[in-house]
Amino acid sequence: MIKARKRFGQHFLEPAWIEKVVRAIDPKADEDFYEIGPGLGALTRPLAARARSLVAFEIDRDLTAELQRTAPPNVTVVPGDFLQSSWIADHPSAGPVRVAGNLPYNVAAPILFKLVDLYGAGAPFTDATVMLQREVADRLIAKPGTREYGVLPILIGHSADITRVLTLPPGAFRPAPQVHSALVRLRFHAPALAVPSVTDFRALVQAIFTRRRKTLTNALLAYAGSAQVPPRVALEAAGLDGRRRPETLTLAEIAQLCYSFAVSRSSRPV
Ligand code: SAM
Repeated sequence: MIKARKRFGQHFLEPAWIEKVVRAIDPKADEDFYEIGPGLGALTRPLAARARSLVAFEIDRDLTAELQRTAPPNVTVVPGDFLQSSWIADHPSAGPVRVAGNLPYNVAAPILFKLVDLYGAGAPFTDATVMLQREVADRLIAKPGTREYGVLPILIGHSADITRVLTLPPGAFRPAPQVHSALVRLRFHAPALAVPSVTDFRALVQAIFTRRRKTLTNALLAYAGSAQVPPRVALEAAGLDGRRRPETLTLAEIAQLCYSFAVSRSSRPV
């Protein structure tokens, strides 16, 4: 009997929910999967039975050993921390890959950011169907002007369309977490709005959303200082009213603002 390890965010899917989740993922015989956090293999086995291949990333050594011993031959188990792993970059896939996982909630956001980074670096992901804490799912799909809207929907939504496919009660897992859960699908796409630099875009989004209740002009002061472009100049170039609050900006407006900073900086007299 394997004891769930809290530090690895282990909440194993109950048998009654496995088929529902697998059906929502909808694996096909010619598809290849990466699974993050296979645990005891609740999703691994049914996914591998229906798909062509599956690579499973698992941090827990005991679970890894058990999976390696019992998994079917089309499953490759990669031991270690997915967040530290370079396996995907080191083993470029020739064809499209789907991602699935009942994620450890304590590191779910960094895992989503890593998936977006890998996709941006050329990993041929088509989609990722992942289990998240319901509040995180709510934030991911939040719209401008709402309390949940912020860094997560903007930075993830820049590279993926996000939909909720299933909501699960705490009792769907053992041990039961203290929160509800939601299965969410990210459909990756090339960023619809080009930004001059992903690093600058992230820094801008982080900067304005840590001051989300201030006016844009004030929220931008620190970022504008490091970019050496006055907020007024970038806001005018982006056609944005500096009295607005950051939380009202759409993804397109933030991308435009990022672009305006880059253009204003490069056209600044030296
Ligand atoms: N897929 C299984 C299920 O649905 O029953 C287990 C899901 S459990 C919520 C999360 C799994 O992710 C655990 O097996 C845990 O050991 C693993 N895990 C936690 N952190 C990880 C990391 N950084 N990299 C890879 N696996 C991780």
